[in-house]
Amino acid sequence: MAGDTQPNKKVIANCVYCSNPPNGQEHWLNRSLGTFAWNTFLTGRICTPCNVTFGGTIDLELVRTAHTGVTRQVLGIEGRASHERKNVFEYKASQKEPPVQVFRVDDGNLKPVFEQAVGRNPDGTLIATQGRVLVLATADGEQQMRFPRGWDEHQLRSAAETRGLLGGRPVSAHVPPPETVDEFVAASRDIIRAVFGPFEIDVYHSRLDGPVAPVEPTLLRFNLSPAFLRAVAKVAFHYFLWACPQIGGDKPEFSDLKVYILAWASPRTSSTSRTH
Ligand SMILES: [Zn+2]
Repeated sequence: MAGDTQPNKKVIANCVYCSNPPNGQEHWLNRSLGTFAWNTFLTGRICTPCNVTFGGTIDLELVRTAHTGVTRQVLGIEGRASHERKNVFEYKASQKEPPVQVFRVDDGNLKPVFEQAVGRNPDGTLIATQGRVLVLATADGEQQMRFPRGWDEHQLRSAAETRGLLGGRPVSAHVPPPETVDEFVAASRDIIRAVFGPFEIDVYHSRLDGPVAPVEPTLLRFNLSPAFLRAVAKVAFHYFLWACPQIGGDKPEFSDLKVYILAWASPRTSSTSRTH
């Protein structure tokens, strides 16, 4: 490991976050963001348990939400094969304001749409298709809600309840590829009936090789969670430790930063940023 042969590298006895020996090998720039030339592990600073804990908590927010998550998905960057694939446009979709929201400008108003980006044109604009969506007739007209593949009855009921859509009547559904209409019916009909009662609906399917519609200005809103911001702070801190091996990260000056990074259990409040 290149990091271990640096002559001026400070040796510390404990993980910078806990009392374990600092035996972990960390991809300080998350492996899920891709592989990069000349990038080496951060060694001698973090223990394996802390590294594993980060990987199962704040690192997930970094790779599945916000600018990082959407860019990663649009560019087709895949992490380790053993990691579960998640569509960032459906991540935490049961929340009323999930981490990634898509809007179309309609007469000056922002209208939520349930699309997902599937690629990028040479000029940087995104190619999108409609997501996996259920359309419900309600007293206020037709309403759409995301219905990610794999949701069970409880998740669908809870998401519909959050949106005040439990009394709605299903009128149609849209299934994006690679899932087929037959697969949708087999996987989801009983779940939809359990939540909304008996129904017959039309199920629509997008063809990715079909004609492309004109470019429409679309807003992506990223509802940044504290866990996402902590992940960014962690990457910055660990990059610093990797780039400056003579600094161990064990000095009290780093205490506030470490407390911030470790506070993943505190209540969620969201701040918002917008981008095109
Ligand atoms: Zn530790």
